[in-house]
Amino acid sequence: MEILVCVKRVPDSAENEIEVKADGSDIKRDDLVYSVNEWDNYAVEEAIQIVDRVGGSVTVASIGNEEAEEVVRREMAMGAHQGLLLVDPAFEGSDGKGIAAILKAAVLKGQYDLVLTGAQADDGAAQVGGMLAALLDWPYASLVNKIEVQDGHTLKIGREIEGGNQEINEIEMPCVLSIQTGINEPRYVGIRGIRKVASVEIPVMNAGRLGIDPAAVGQAGAGVKRVDYFVPPAGAGAEILQGSTAEIAAKLLDLLKAKGGLK
Ligand SMILES: Cc1cc2nc3c(=O)[nH]c(=O)nc-3n(C[C@H](O)[C@H](O)[C@H](O)COP(=O)(O)OP(=O)(O)OC[C@H]3O[C@@H](n4cnc5c(N)ncnc54)[C@H](O)[C@@H]3O)c2cc1C
Repeated sequence: MEILVCVKRVPDSAENEIEVKADGSDIKRDDLVYSVNEWDNYAVEEAIQIVDRVGGSVTVASIGNEEAEEVVRREMAMGAHQGLLLVDPAFEGSDGKGIAAILKAAVLKGQYDLVLTGAQADDGAAQVGGMLAALLDWPYASLVNKIEVQDGHTLKIGREIEGGNQEINEIEMPCVLSIQTGINEPRYVGIRGIRKVASVEIPVMNAGRLGIDPAAVGQAGAGVKRVDYFVPPAGAGAEILQGSTAEIAAKLLDLLKAKGGLK
């Protein structure tokens, strides 16, 4: 089975203090530590496990600047067989539909049976997987937490439903699935794995090679334009606890006891 996994390079929220720029255009990105979007890491692990069971290969693709190579290489060190970088200044400022349109062009350059995305990424939009499926006119299932290959044409998939309930569906391939965290236990990527793929060539495709009209993606093609970005002011009665994690936990415990939330 040929599987494409879409991976996004995102600021690592465990490693950074995220601050918003004064002009409200974005977060301050200088000096941030980046990593692969957590959901995408689960998707790559799942793809590797499927290929281990039924054969085939896993390709990881990322849209970004040259630095996206770092996350593609990491996922190759994990066990993905190929990488693909989708890089063009024209892609900057794309909205979710733009991102999905770029991914669609990459999907159609290959012969994939299955495309996996994360359920969501750092902007929390959870829109790319569904939009990609719609643009491809392929079946789509979201919040997938179980995948079983039935035969060459269908998958049996589990979906996480609100309230801890579970739904099982059959879906025809080719299809797009967005993957929920917890579907597996992503393997550890060691320094030896990283070294092994350090010099593997990763193809780079720009708008021209993908056959994309630059005006249809990026800021130029965005139907949704970001106009502001800010941390809401704390509401009346809200208190932001300061200190180390241990100090915050102790203060929280005291507060819960004081308010009668804990005996
Ligand atoms: C400087 C800046 C300006 C922006 N301006 C706008 C704007 O004007 N309008 C607007 O709507 N958005 C804007 N965005 C947000 C950007 O378009 C989002 O990254 C995009 O819409 C996807 O949303 P998300 O990250 O919430 O992805 P989701 O839809 O939550 O992501 C789901 C999955 O899609 C896949 N995916 C998402 N992004 C990528 C990627 N880059 N490469 C490969 N796979 C990917 C991954 O598998 C991911 O798990 C801006 C972002 C930045 C940094």
